[in-house]
Amino acid sequence: MPLNKLTVLLLAGLVLSACATSPTGRSQLSMFPEAQVNQMGIQAYQDLKSKQKLSHSKVLNKYARCVANAIIDVLPPKYRNQRWEVNVFEDKSPNAFALPGGKIGVNTGIFKVAKTPDQLAAVLGHEIGHVMAQHGNERMSTALATQLGVKAVQVAAGASGHALGSGAMSALGLGAQYGILMPFSRVHEKEADLIGETLMAKAGFDPRESIRLWENMQKASTGAPPEFLSTHPSGSNRIRQLAENMPAALATMEDARAAGRHPRCKAP
Ligand SMILES: [Zn+2]
Repeated sequence: MPLNKLTVLLLAGLVLSACATSPTGRSQLSMFPEAQVNQMGIQAYQDLKSKQKLSHSKVLNKYARCVANAIIDVLPPKYRNQRWEVNVFEDKSPNAFALPGGKIGVNTGIFKVAKTPDQLAAVLGHEIGHVMAQHGNERMSTALATQLGVKAVQVAAGASGHALGSGAMSALGLGAQYGILMPFSRVHEKEADLIGETLMAKAGFDPRESIRLWENMQKASTGAPPEFLSTHPSGSNRIRQLAENMPAALATMEDARAAGRHPRCKAP
């Protein structure tokens, strides 16, 4: 499809009408239908499962699923009712991820830093926080909007004849990688930390353990840090933010426990 002025106007309209609000109240660009992003997450997970080595440890998988399920149970229905899948991967790097569409991966290496169920809940709460805040959609949308902006300028300058198809598609093709699996920005990390702290507390885990987790991470991290402890924001900034939100999180935990939520997952 040749890119003409009408197309640019239509797409600009799409960008302008695609604002959403994240769970912490931040306005964000959200141009992709949720179903499409979920599909990308499910596809990316399939690819990972076929390429990476899955752990066959029943004990580890059961443990990871126990912690994940306790959190999934307290998600808003739209997420809770997805078909969640949780697998442990044989990978020494201390990492974990959650993908849109209800897919979770936990590396064997994470158990060395997330030493208790509550600390693992902090990791998984954070990862699920990225999904609930639709960070993948936002990042892909920003990339696409940037690309469309460039195209619009080209058209305005009379450089018509560019095929939008390839441009948009490369942004989309990039999307699966870019929107879902790459490290998140500082804003996204902080937001996922906050959402995660609340989620773990809602499930009845002790949110104070999120701080211990980051302390363990800091001690363990030498060389390139994995996704969720990407260098920005620094560990101490994250701990400060978690501590600020701690009174609210503890109150949430008390309510959850009073309501009978007290997960009993056994660390291996
Ligand atoms: Zn993260």
